[in-house]
Amino acid sequence: MPNAAVLPADSPTLTTQTIADAVRALTPYMVETLSDFVAAKSPSGNEQPAVDFMEGALRDLGLASERIVLNTAQLKALPLFSTPCCPDGGRYNLLATHRPRARGGRSVLFNGHLDVVPTGPESMWRQSPFSPYVEDGWLFGRGAGDMKAGIVCALAAFKALKDLGVQPAGAVGFNAVLEEESTGNGALATVASLRSAVGAGKLASFDTVLIPEPFGESLMNAQMGVFWMFVELTGRPAHAAYMTTGVNPIEAGIAVMDDLRKLEAEWNLPENRPAAYRDHAHPINFNLGQLQGGEWNSSVPCTCTLGIRIGFFPDMNVDDAKATVAQHIRDTLTRLGSTLQLNIRYEGFHAPGCDFDLDNAPMQALAEAHRKVHGTAPLRQASAATTDARHFRIMLDTPVTCYGPDARDIHGIDESVSIASMIRVATTFAQFLHDWCGVEPAVD
Ligand SMILES: [Zn+2]
Repeated sequence: MPNAAVLPADSPTLTTQTIADAVRALTPYMVETLSDFVAAKSPSGNEQPAVDFMEGALRDLGLASERIVLNTAQLKALPLFSTPCCPDGGRYNLLATHRPRARGGRSVLFNGHLDVVPTGPESMWRQSPFSPYVEDGWLFGRGAGDMKAGIVCALAAFKALKDLGVQPAGAVGFNAVLEEESTGNGALATVASLRSAVGAGKLASFDTVLIPEPFGESLMNAQMGVFWMFVELTGRPAHAAYMTTGVNPIEAGIAVMDDLRKLEAEWNLPENRPAAYRDHAHPINFNLGQLQGGEWNSSVPCTCTLGIRIGFFPDMNVDDAKATVAQHIRDTLTRLGSTLQLNIRYEGFHAPGCDFDLDNAPMQALAEAHRKVHGTAPLRQASAATTDARHFRIMLDTPVTCYGPDARDIHGIDESVSIASMIRVATTFAQFLHDWCGVEPAVD
């Protein structure tokens, strides 16, 4: 429970039922906002429609946004920097902060990403991925679950308190970032900016960070390390009639992937797992996400490139994980007795894993808010993915977790999010703001 002594003395108290009713009344707001947000396409590298939409949604709540520009040259020296997959191009995050009239309440930053992953062929979707629709209580569209719904939950929580005539008595930030799905450099830019602002004495940092990723209303206690690699193989082309005189880089790539599966299985062995992942079905995943190569059915191909995402446990160092995987690939080529040329290019995630303390004051306050809404304590979940939580944990040592609504088929086809779950998450957030920051009469 938060320590009541640090809440402002004149904090009014609202009951959970009052808060829940105010959030429920915002169901049309949530559905409409999320629908427009999904329709504001934001694939990695071209997120501007969603940035513009977000700026407007914040403005509607009386919040002005600061723009934090992604600048690779400035971020490059930071340990959590990942080599970007697309140019900076003047793209920027948004950071809007509500400031209370009287200082006193504790602060929180909601952090969410605006970028969405590719849709795949639209013909595989029941309806266009950027034409959202609601069916049986689920809202469909690319980015609906991952993670525009969570951002809408945070906005709705803030709005619900305003509708009740109060506002948080501590600072509440809304940080909307780019590049979560490929590098994390968006969150890195905001964290670097917050850190230098604090260093310069200009701005108080936030006491805690909540990331409303679609975690099925559970709290995240660990996340995997992730890196991306591009394995470029160059063979010796030949006429298919004399195929055995050539060296086929695509077939070598298949052998590389087969061998990597053995390393993946070894890392997944029960004895190699940290405690947080002991009961996880399959935490280590080496995903072959892209494959390019070959020119002609009757030619032994010249080149093959494998785009692979490697997951590794939080107790492994990212550079060590890279070195182990690279050595494994070289060993495969040696075993094949191959004259192939190998080049490994690293672009995208260079992300260490981490554990998150859920027993500190803000995380207990969030768990308590969840309990007030649900009647039961939240589950704890170790994620098999990476999230932007690492930046706040590692660079600022700020208490952080992911907590957000139920979603289905994220990164897949016909992605959707549960509207009932969104309402519960928004209620939990509003309860958290009430308990953690305290509330004061709203400015009218
Ligand atoms: Zn996400």
